[in-house]
Amino acid sequence: MKPLRARDYLSELKPIWCPGCGDFGVLNALTLAFAALQLQREKLAIISGIGCSSRIPGYIHSYGFHGIHGRALPLATGLKLSRPELVVVVTMGDGDAYSIGGNHLIHAARRNLDLTCIVMDNHVYGMTLGQMSPTTPLGDFTSTTPYGSIDFPLNPLVLALASGATFVARGFSWDPKPLATLMVRGIQHRGFSVIDVLSPCVTFRPEDRTGLRDQLKRSYGEQPNTRDRFEAMRDAAADAGRRLGIFYVEERRTYRDNWDANAQMAKSEPARVRGLDSIIAALPDSIGQDAI
Ligand code: SF4
Ligand code: MG
Repeated sequence: MKPLRARDYLSELKPIWCPGCGDFGVLNALTLAFAALQLQREKLAIISGIGCSSRIPGYIHSYGFHGIHGRALPLATGLKLSRPELVVVVTMGDGDAYSIGGNHLIHAARRNLDLTCIVMDNHVYGMTLGQMSPTTPLGDFTSTTPYGSIDFPLNPLVLALASGATFVARGFSWDPKPLATLMVRGIQHRGFSVIDVLSPCVTFRPEDRTGLRDQLKRSYGEQPNTRDRFEAMRDAAADAGRRLGIFYVEERRTYRDNWDANAQMAKSEPARVRGLDSIIAALPDSIGQDAI
């Protein structure tokens, strides 16, 4: 069988993103990563929510599901638990992942589900015409903040780390090759991976087109404290969103491991519900008599 090339992962649909949108680079990097791993397309599923970035499942030749806003992770959770042999990649925007779906991110991370989340973080809601998002910098002008944003922005890496993610990294969409390397590491990681990708929205934040390129420290090495969660949080909090690369890696039991262990117990032991015997003993005798 001939090896798959990056372009073999592209579907027949042509992206309808604005010319210059950072999401082109993310799509490019994803196909490079899939080719580097030689993932079979029938073993790959891309799950998304809603937003410009969430169109990605349609552009990739694999299984895919373009879900509803903020709910990509519940969909991906169900898929991964029922089809553990699939590689499941979740593509979201900053509004989708950190605001509307923020609660799902927290709980997927603490469970250590074996999923790879690629968050195209452009600091704005692009598809719905440029409203402030949870990562919009303080004071920035958007269509909903005509006098500047008064919200302090969320730090995605600190959120992911505090929630229990076991692989946390930041990339930049204009560097597809090093970004693909991060994606390969994230997909290979057995557990919950979050890669926050700075991906400029050139229509509603045109200043990011050159601003990010000039300000970022575009070296993709591992950060110094990748085995210490608290030091990684300190690094992520202190860097003002300018450093790229891997911030944290931890090998830990996945949700599926715990699920399988529970299933084994269920075959051999009675269920243990703490306190149930004493609750039943304390019930008045009259309870349930109507049903008898
Ligand atoms: Fe990209 Fe922004 Fe255009 Fe959406 S609105 S396609 S995020 S440039
Ligand atoms: Mg966005």
